[in-house]
Amino acid sequence: MTDLNTLGLAEARDALRKGDTTSTALTEACLTAIEGSSALNAFVHNTPEIAMEQAKAADARIQAGDAPAMCGLPLGIKDLFCTKGVPSQAASAILDGFKPEYESTVTSKLFDAGAVMLGKLNMDEFAMGSSNETSTYGNVINPWRRADDAAALTPGGSSGGSASAVAADLCLAATGTDTGGSIRQPAAFAGITGIKPTYGRCSRWGIVAFASSLDQAGPMTKSVRDAAIMLEAMCGHDPKDSTSADLAVPNFEAMLTGDVKGKKIGIPKEYRMDGMPGEIEALWQEGTAMLRDAGAEIVDISLPHTKYALPAYYVIAPAEASSNLARYDGVRYGHRAKLDQGDGITEMYEKTRAEGFGAEVQRRVMIGTYVLSAGFYDAYYNRARKVRTLIKKDFEDVFAQGIDGILTPATPSAAFGLGEMQDADPVQMYLNDVFTVTVNMAGLPGVSVPAGLDKQGLPLGLQLIGKPWEEGELLNLAYAVEQAAGFVAKPAKWW
Ligand code: GLN
Repeated sequence: MTDLNTLGLAEARDALRKGDTTSTALTEACLTAIEGSSALNAFVHNTPEIAMEQAKAADARIQAGDAPAMCGLPLGIKDLFCTKGVPSQAASAILDGFKPEYESTVTSKLFDAGAVMLGKLNMDEFAMGSSNETSTYGNVINPWRRADDAAALTPGGSSGGSASAVAADLCLAATGTDTGGSIRQPAAFAGITGIKPTYGRCSRWGIVAFASSLDQAGPMTKSVRDAAIMLEAMCGHDPKDSTSADLAVPNFEAMLTGDVKGKKIGIPKEYRMDGMPGEIEALWQEGTAMLRDAGAEIVDISLPHTKYALPAYYVIAPAEASSNLARYDGVRYGHRAKLDQGDGITEMYEKTRAEGFGAEVQRRVMIGTYVLSAGFYDAYYNRARKVRTLIKKDFEDVFAQGIDGILTPATPSAAFGLGEMQDADPVQMYLNDVFTVTVNMAGLPGVSVPAGLDKQGLPLGLQLIGKPWEEGELLNLAYAVEQAAGFVAKPAKWW
């Protein structure tokens, strides 16, 4: 067999069921790959003992004929997920030493289904960022490099560790979270698949909150089939999250027929941005042709409020973040600053938060506090909420016209160099999410599929946006694109 860590979930599952390999062997192969990958800085906390214990238990289950789809499959877990007894810091210094007493619902579901945890994955601090350059653990490096150029590139963010680990075959798949694009943008930058499900599909319980009305968990995988398998195991109703939907979870994998005949695919004219690189435009057209050739009907559509999505997101997300992050005060969790004689509780809060939060998190807290302040609440926060309703209505209108899915580029560029944007105006960085934030604002499912390489040999992704709760249909559209694109490129191993 090929190196076991290079397998995807579906292949590994089938091999396990046939008795061709064991979870122990898969897990050992991944642990060895992780050991040799420190140059990528993707894993920030390894859990080999837990992994081997889970792998042995999974092997016993498989032997006993009780093997759910995820049984025995080794995964990386984004540091935003609380994992019982294992450091869970959201890549922030303020959560230094925090080991939760509980397990997030999503990771519980995965472990109940027999999945194996290899360790925790790097990310942007509190999931704020698009380049994984805001982590207390340092930057994550993308295993992909430009042809003839050894410059370190970003894997995207905030799920940059997840993207890098999956692309470099350190694990079979990983969890991610997406508030404005943090599953889909890194997936596109690393040549892998990532789906953000409909808001409410996955429980948010036990996931460190960034912007609660936008956050969703989802899988980051080596193929669309793998995304279908893992998503099914992650989602489902959870009474502990009042926004979790009480809806049956379909068998997403069974919906991957590749048949998209007669499906109406919308091409939104507002996503054709000024200054969009020619290669992104060309990829979008190729994707359109792929779906047309597969029998879908291509329809030009308009989503008129698109241009307001990014500014409205950067009011709503910081507003919610500033409120969610108020709990980090040095009293209950993680880091507490050393105090000087005479310091009181105010100094303790101030010093702890100044030391514990990085610059981007502090910026968001300040923006959020400002837009929620009495004098500006209506002008900013309420206005952004109204814009959000209009964005949602844009999508409802096109779906009411019979559109089944929407095709757009996933990102406005391929992976960029570390430091290239971090030092620029933060708004440049925020523009990375121009194609993805609308989907969070409307609560819709969105998937990014690798569809080609740019002229420097870097992966580019296409995004498909689906109707609420129609992840199965959405994944099937992505499957059709995946089959037509035939993307098989892998980064050359240098790490
Ligand atoms: N890049 C966006 C931000 O910084 C989205 C992050 C995310 O989806 N978690 O807010």
